[in-house]
Amino acid sequence: MYQASEKRYEQMQYIHCGKSGLKLPRVALGLWHNFGSVDPFENQKALLFKAFDLGITHFDLANNYGPVPGSAEENFGKVLKEEFKSYRDQLIISTKAGYTMWEGPYGDWGSRKYLLSSLDQSLKRMGLDYVDIFYHHRPDPNTPLEETMNALSDAVRQGKALYVGLSNYSAEDTKKAAAILRKNKTPCIIHQPNYNMFNRWVEDGLLDVLEEEGIGSIAFCPLAQGILTDKYIKGIPEGSRATKSVFLHENDITEDKINKVIKLNEVAKDRGQSLAQMSLSWVLRKNRVTTALIGASKVSQIEANVEIVNKLDFTDQELQRIEEILK
Ligand code: NDP
Repeated sequence: MYQASEKRYEQMQYIHCGKSGLKLPRVALGLWHNFGSVDPFENQKALLFKAFDLGITHFDLANNYGPVPGSAEENFGKVLKEEFKSYRDQLIISTKAGYTMWEGPYGDWGSRKYLLSSLDQSLKRMGLDYVDIFYHHRPDPNTPLEETMNALSDAVRQGKALYVGLSNYSAEDTKKAAAILRKNKTPCIIHQPNYNMFNRWVEDGLLDVLEEEGIGSIAFCPLAQGILTDKYIKGIPEGSRATKSVFLHENDITEDKINKVIKLNEVAKDRGQSLAQMSLSWVLRKNRVTTALIGASKVSQIEANVEIVNKLDFTDQELQRIEEILK
């Protein structure tokens, strides 16, 4: 039976998510990869235990994580039931609906029908009465925003979610959605965008809107699925995500990216960090982003990644060097 480390709150830092009362760890663990029915369950447990032992209180899921879709929630539910049960009130568990989940017209996008039935399914798979955060996973251009936001509000009213979040919404849509949720008195506390040194779209308006609205943010793929580490510098190692995921192909690892990675790796060395660590610290620089949402295939990656809380600051010179490389 798992017993959490007594030292788990000693190193991790927690900050308020936007203007909400909820504090989140600077590093959270996502279960998009490595937690499906195809992945060894023993490794899943090892990853979850190590994360919590190091102060990662926030675990991020979605209805479709697997493969097969739904199996990440099922596996997480097993761990919750068997090992994490007594820690439920120390955990922030999020899930989402918005991408294709089941066949037919009601298992995708942003209708009330889809969101509320999907949330019920997620709760069942995880064996939970409520999730801490329920997200709309992506904007739906063909459903009135009011319908989707009212569904999120009702999830909170029904006691099935404590807070709600938006993912992949543009700055403009976030503003509109936040206005509806505010009118409904629904706590929209978080936005989950893709953000890393190779994908900086959030700097073009979204982060400003989030600051104005008092909404926090959690950056997904902060390592660009592993490209912003030193792992691909000398080729594509066996067992890495690029060799086995449909979401990262060998041809995504371009010469141009690797040339930049080699230079970034030098900056990281000069800072006394690995490139993975510097990439995560960079996403959190100046506290504009609440949390870096990592994935991991090995316990050692989690151990290395949480170390960043001791080195989040950059000198102007370091930031300048990084800008030059990314230009
Ligand atoms: P990352 O960019 O952090 O990539 C994680 C991968 O990087 C790991 O699986 C591992 O790859 C590699 N890695 C991690 N740490 C290290 C290290 N220290 N050294 C070397 N390699 C390392 O994030 P993900 O792409 O996994 O996404 C994280 C989470 O974000 C997801 O689990 C999910 O919760 C969320 N997400 C949300 C989306 C949305 O639309 N809202 C979309 C995508 C993700 P390897 O397997 O090769 O070892």
